[in-house]
Amino acid sequence: MRMKEMQHMLSDIEWEVKLTRSMIGKDSLDERVMAAMRHVPRHEFIPKALREYAYQNAPVPIGAGQTISQPYIVALMSDLLNTKPSDVVLEIGTGSGYQAAILSRLVKQVYSIEFVEELATLARTRLHELGYDNVEVRAGDGNLGWPEHSPYDGIIVTAAAPHIPQALIDQLRTGARMVIPLGLPYSAQELIVVEKKPDGKIKTEDILGVAFVPLVEARHSDRRHGTSR
Ligand code: SAH
Repeated sequence: MRMKEMQHMLSDIEWEVKLTRSMIGKDSLDERVMAAMRHVPRHEFIPKALREYAYQNAPVPIGAGQTISQPYIVALMSDLLNTKPSDVVLEIGTGSGYQAAILSRLVKQVYSIEFVEELATLARTRLHELGYDNVEVRAGDGNLGWPEHSPYDGIIVTAAAPHIPQALIDQLRTGARMVIPLGLPYSAQELIVVEKKPDGKIKTEDILGVAFVPLVEARHSDRRHGTSR
């Protein structure tokens, strides 16, 4: 791995954490999260032609109109998830597989759902080749969650949703957290931490403004692709 570039990326993350301390309520992120960020080779998750940008603190296109998120946001969301090594977590929006790889260092098992089949296949192969064996990737609509392995000790959604999908609340363990960007595409979005209370109700906390690609709703995308002719 490119040590100098990696060190730059980690410093940039630490710097941005300090800049946003009043919003995120802390001066530094969980050491375990920073160790995972140091360990995972981000360039392996980026198309060859764009690898020179791999260790910049910025999102990078990964094909199919999607992006790998900014390292600061990946680190922040991983931190907000409050993981323990024994956790089983669900990710919606596998994309490149990078966030899943980070989570795989933090928890026992990661399940990740990606809407775009070719991205799911690519991420699955890549994660396997890099030895992240505790990640399972499936192509499908993340709005429905992955009920077979629920309840989850944490859920992370890496695409912006107009509202919190009910299936994901249902599949969250009581007392557990979901980290999700809420808002409409290309308008103001807010990163939210959702906590499921013992009475089944949820408590939400706004963290900070973000910019994510939209969480697709399957029925909308069917319409767009013209299934009825
Ligand atoms: N976590 C990714 C980046 C996510 S970009 C990474 O580390 O690289 C958001 C991803 O969410 C895109 O790949 C997009 O195709 C996917 N997505 C959008 N709507 C979805 C849905 N309903 N279900 C599952 N994945 C979805």
